[in-house]
Amino acid sequence: MRTHPYKSIMEYYTIAHCPHMPKIDGKYVVAEITSVIEYNGAKYEIKTCCTACANAIRNNPGKYIKQKDNNTVVAVHKDTNEEVQTLKKV
Ligand SMILES: [Zn+2]
Repeated sequence: MRTHPYKSIMEYYTIAHCPHMPKIDGKYVVAEITSVIEYNGAKYEIKTCCTACANAIRNNPGKYIKQKDNNTVVAVHKDTNEEVQTLKKV
């Protein structure tokens, strides 16, 4: 399938990284598995590198899920507290 160059650029910059897996070679691990996790009475789609990470987040969502502003909820990395993906409410 052909992808428009602009679309591939946008996909690169919106790539999600796993909030739980420790950095490998100084880089966050790409997250491609989507799970739905409940936090503060709402459900969010969150991406992780594997189901073990999704379960770790499910057990302690407050450590990973942050309200960034009125309209934006993000996931932060457990070790660095840096934003690694924007979450979609479901
Ligand atoms: Zn993982």
